[in-house]
Amino acid sequence: MHEMGIANSVLEAVRTEMGLHPGTYPCKVGVRIGEMAAIDQDALRFCFEAIVHETDLEALELGIEVCPRRHRCQLCGCEFVVHDYDSRCPQCASLATTCISGDELELAYLEVEEYGPSAVGAKSTQ
Ligand SMILES: [Zn+2]
Repeated sequence: MHEMGIANSVLEAVRTEMGLHPGTYPCKVGVRIGEMAAIDQDALRFCFEAIVHETDLEALELGIEVCPRRHRCQLCGCEFVVHDYDSRCPQCASLATTCISGDELELAYLEVEEYGPSAVGAKSTQ
């Protein structure tokens, strides 16, 4: 399954990132997916949960951000979101437009937290 490979790469990226920040753990990872990348969000979430299950990353949350397909007009420079495969410029009706986004598949963000309680400044409640 296509989504299984993606979920694996996301986790690999998370682990690489964690190696650079010792003493922290990841709580949420966000991925950005273009609508043309043809990725099933539910399948991706399912695969991701299956992979992290019973691992040290089990609590890691997956955030999915979908980017619409965008084109830029070569004549007037107008940037617009393409609906229903109609890639005509809404401003000057030119058909000479180029795709500028919509097939992304990238790590958008990674939220980490420090392992606590921290010895510095930690106060006992006793
Ligand atoms: Zn235009």
